[in-house]
Amino acid sequence: MLHGPERCGEEKSHMPTRLLELYADPRRGGSCKGMITRFFIGATLVQIVCLDLEGVLVPEIWIEVSQRTGIAELSRTTRDEPDYDKLMRGRIEILERHGLRLADIQGVIATMAPLDGAEEFLGRLRARFQVVILSDTFYEFADPLMHRLGRPTLFCHRLEVCTEGFVRGHRLRMPDQKRAAVNAFRALNFTTVAAGDSYNDIAMLGAAHAGIFFRPPPGVTEQFPDFLVTQTYADLDDAISRAVGGHG
Ligand SMILES: [Mg+2]
Repeated sequence: MLHGPERCGEEKSHMPTRLLELYADPRRGGSCKGMITRFFIGATLVQIVCLDLEGVLVPEIWIEVSQRTGIAELSRTTRDEPDYDKLMRGRIEILERHGLRLADIQGVIATMAPLDGAEEFLGRLRARFQVVILSDTFYEFADPLMHRLGRPTLFCHRLEVCTEGFVRGHRLRMPDQKRAAVNAFRALNFTTVAAGDSYNDIAMLGAAHAGIFFRPPPGVTEQFPDFLVTQTYADLDDAISRAVGGHG
């Protein structure tokens, strides 16, 4: 039972004091349970958690393709090459050289699964917060994995594919889209927490109210030591909750 301002304060410590007193005051209607419930729903909806995809919820797609095809040079990722556009131009050139079509890569991706525990973690997160996946992958790649994850909202890019099925280019929806999305959410008055693992997440982590690393490679954390580092979904979940509490 929720009675009295102290109990209500425990339930949602960032609720404005005046509202706590008003909703909790027995002289104004006794139990504040209904009011608290309404406020709690409102509080969760004004917070957005932005998650990177590869390395956070699913394996690195290009590493998987590299292993399946035996083409070692396809294993380079944003962990190795900070310039994403340069990285993608190199990948497309390698695919062309080896005669690999989009369908070949999609065939590999169709056999991939989310990281262990990712589906449960994302489900728990989405029950409490709005979650948006900000990824530098492509809609043509992501679809089977997003299906496994319950189809959360995904902002990513498109590939250019010729009539013969070869990847001829990549079309970034916009440059620096992760940072732009976080800044847009903030401009819309959403408290925003972001989590990612690599170089292409740094701008997003920096733009958010709170930025959190999840299983980053050592080189990244040495260059960007200011972000909290988490290694398990339990730790990431806890870090997100604490970050939201601090900015609610
Ligand atoms: Mg990543």
